[in-house]
Amino acid sequence: TYDFTGQVALVTGAASGMGLATARAFAHAGAAVVLADLDRRAAEAAAESLTGDGHQALGVGCDVADEDQAAAMVERAVQTFGRLDMAFNNAGIQVPPADAAEERAEDFDRVNAVNLRGIWTCQKHELRQMRAQGSGAIVNCSSLGGLVGLPERAAYHASKHGVIGLTRSAAVEYAARGIRINAVCPGTIDTPMVAGMLEGQAEAMAEIMKQQPIGRLGTADEIANAVLWLCSPAATFVIGVALPVDGGFTAH
Ligand code: NAD
Repeated sequence: TYDFTGQVALVTGAASGMGLATARAFAHAGAAVVLADLDRRAAEAAAESLTGDGHQALGVGCDVADEDQAAAMVERAVQTFGRLDMAFNNAGIQVPPADAAEERAEDFDRVNAVNLRGIWTCQKHELRQMRAQGSGAIVNCSSLGGLVGLPERAAYHASKHGVIGLTRSAAVEYAARGIRINAVCPGTIDTPMVAGMLEGQAEAMAEIMKQQPIGRLGTADEIANAVLWLCSPAATFVIGVALPVDGGFTAH
């Protein structure tokens, strides 16, 4: 465990899945946490549950695909807690799998507006605050789909490959200015997103299991552990990496 007492963490997509697990982990490590989500009520409820346990937390409604809302989210974090030390840009969506010759332009635009432009936008506004402080750590959420290609996922994989590009570019740019930027590439993780996709699809689940060397899905807490490590003083020389946390998926 790490000691983030006195530090401020921002997590997007914090009302569910790995965002929620990471927000909780930051709070348990002593950080004040801003939980941002499209679902404002759920973000506020998650923040209230943390404050009820004695942590510092704020729930904020934010659509990361809207630059004004992303800027306001960062501003609110700084107004409330005075600074911004760590950010996990995690909010993301899936679109239905489709033949690459049939994918719909509206699905491509939607998934890239949230997963790619949303992370680019959040990173941009977080960097303005961290640049002024001269310190900070950002972790962007990519995917195993940012490292390899699976069939019928061209639009989603485009967004996740893009996240690695914007991470590496900004990481190199800000490395000497005290700000570390990395990406995490989760494998298949047991969250509401995956449960929704695989509901009633035993065959698809069996297929995924075959590709997981570890023989099980990952947990949201296993992603939170990686994000906290990337933000921690244990990772001060780690810059611009796309870290697979995938039970061996991309290794085989
Ligand atoms: P999830 O659906 O459980 O949670 C995602 C959260 O993001 C939800 O609370 C949702 O309301 C929020 N969100 C969606 N659109 C938003 C927007 N425009 N603005 C703000 N918040 C928004 O999903 P999860 O499985 O925890 O996924 C989190 C991230 O991890 C996503 O970027 C996803 O692509 C990525 N990922 C997931 C897996 C997996 O197997 N679950 C694997 C690789 C990558």
